[in-house]
Amino acid sequence: MSDPVTQLGSNFIRNIIDEDLASGKHASIVTRFPPEPNGYLHIGHAKAICLNFGLAEHYHGRCHLRFDDTNPAKEEQEYIDAIKTDLSWLGFDWGEYEYHASDYFETLYGYAELLVGKGLAYVCDLNAEQMRTYRGTLTEPGKNSPYRDRSCDENLDLLRRMRAGEFADGSRVLRAKIDMAAPNLNLRDPVLYRLLRATHPRTGDTWCLYPMYDFAHGQSDSIEGVTHSLCTLEFQDHRPLYDWFLNALEIYSPQQIEFSRLNLTYTMMSKRRLLELVQEKHVSGWDDPRMPTLSGMRRRGFTAAAVRTFCERIGVGKSDSIIDMSVLEDCVREDLDRVAPRAMGVLRPLKVTITNYPEDQTEVFTVARHPKDPAMGTRTIPFSREIYVDRDDFMEDPPKKFFRLGPGREVRLRYGYIIRCDEVIKDSASGEVMELRCSYDLETGGGVLPEGRKKVKGIIHWVSAAHAVPVEVRLYDRLFSVANPAAEKERGYRDLLNAESFEVLFSALVEPSLAAAEAGDSFQFERLGYFTVDNKDSQPEKLVFNRSVTLRDTWAKLVNN
Ligand code: ATP
Ligand code: MG
Repeated sequence: MSDPVTQLGSNFIRNIIDEDLASGKHASIVTRFPPEPNGYLHIGHAKAICLNFGLAEHYHGRCHLRFDDTNPAKEEQEYIDAIKTDLSWLGFDWGEYEYHASDYFETLYGYAELLVGKGLAYVCDLNAEQMRTYRGTLTEPGKNSPYRDRSCDENLDLLRRMRAGEFADGSRVLRAKIDMAAPNLNLRDPVLYRLLRATHPRTGDTWCLYPMYDFAHGQSDSIEGVTHSLCTLEFQDHRPLYDWFLNALEIYSPQQIEFSRLNLTYTMMSKRRLLELVQEKHVSGWDDPRMPTLSGMRRRGFTAAAVRTFCERIGVGKSDSIIDMSVLEDCVREDLDRVAPRAMGVLRPLKVTITNYPEDQTEVFTVARHPKDPAMGTRTIPFSREIYVDRDDFMEDPPKKFFRLGPGREVRLRYGYIIRCDEVIKDSASGEVMELRCSYDLETGGGVLPEGRKKVKGIIHWVSAAHAVPVEVRLYDRLFSVANPAAEKERGYRDLLNAESFEVLFSALVEPSLAAAEAGDSFQFERLGYFTVDNKDSQPEKLVFNRSVTLRDTWAKLVNN
């Protein structure tokens, strides 16, 4: 595992921390990653995770994992478990510092009574619709609620009876008494508590009123002694409210610093939208390999190291932008190039018979598993009279620049002989090419080119028919057909899904060295890309490979070598 400590780039947040440590404001730092367990983590979360855990590691502080579990209507244990799995996979360890906003429900409720006692909060009986009207707009001030001037005693009594379950859901809320004319709408008497009969994954049915996220988040940071509370830019407008709470409650005040969210092209980052994709079955689940979730990326074969490198590369700033998916794919390629053994796989097989090769003969080529890493050792590739090549590597009427197979043309089999296509056998009814009959040049085995022999430009991959392992291969492409689906005004994102983002090849073949490949193993299928054994559907008797990422222009490279 690469160590984030050494790779943390400089950024404006580090500058702030450096100053705070130099000035003695803090002796050490405490950060936190605060997911709401209402969905699976996506690559945007990875940015926040790498930042918070990376800073804690770098400054020898600590990073808390805190579940902001204030909305039992949307939160589930499944999500809590998945979040932990993803964090560990990324390589981060929160140790003993696992917290839940729900751990603080009693404390938070105490804070609410405290505000009521100070005349800074009141119970309001307006319904949701009325509250909206009273709230005003960005250009118009709001109006005071008719319940705003209830006495402290009445408010305390009502709040306690809310807690005791005397009132129906939606009938009353507790609100802060701030300023209905504040230019910042967050300060117009925001709701602190609402009645909600829902079973909480942790506190069960203990509570029938739950704090709003805004009333829980800042206080949770405060309770945990978080020094630098890092969040995304949309919370900038909430900061005055958090400060108002901490001030009113006279408790420790962490410093909130905002940074820009990660956006990626050809996907979407909102959990709400991702949940819709799952529920409406546009994808097979949260871990569909096309999803921007960490579980989807892991299943597809993206490595944790690649995701971390990506997060370092994009950096941390304050301006909103959208990063090209290719930046992430490049990180994946770079890492898989380093760690993935090579193999030959044929996606759409076309039979080739080497007519001048003895029928009962097999020979074996011993080649490196990885061209740049001898420690990976060697693999053996059997060769025999019948082989399969990829249909894409044959053209009946090829243009001049097509350096692969065509009638009368020569090509080199990777690691093997030069063959010439002598005859094309077609299905008489459909005209489809069924088989190529070729002859091989005995002098050219193992990549040898005899003196004076005409060079052959093309090299193609292949597998021996008798030895190849049949596998299923799943090809993935971008989930959306436009770069920024969330920004599209005319059409909803459902209409922008890429209909060609998923293709299954049921009759692919791979070389026998892959027979024992296990879930999560990645390989470079030479000339094709990186493929990873699926972690859900693959069986030892029928392997399923996911295409993780294609190779860039390998063909051109091989030809020029
Ligand atoms: P979503 O809008 O996708 O539901 P969220 O912000 O509501 O995301 P949380 O579970 O509340 O999701 O996020 C946990 C942490 O991850 C927060 O600190 C949040 O700021 C951060 N985070 C979420 N999405 C991104 C993103 N796209 N880029 C960077 N950080 C993010
Ligand atoms: Mg959120």
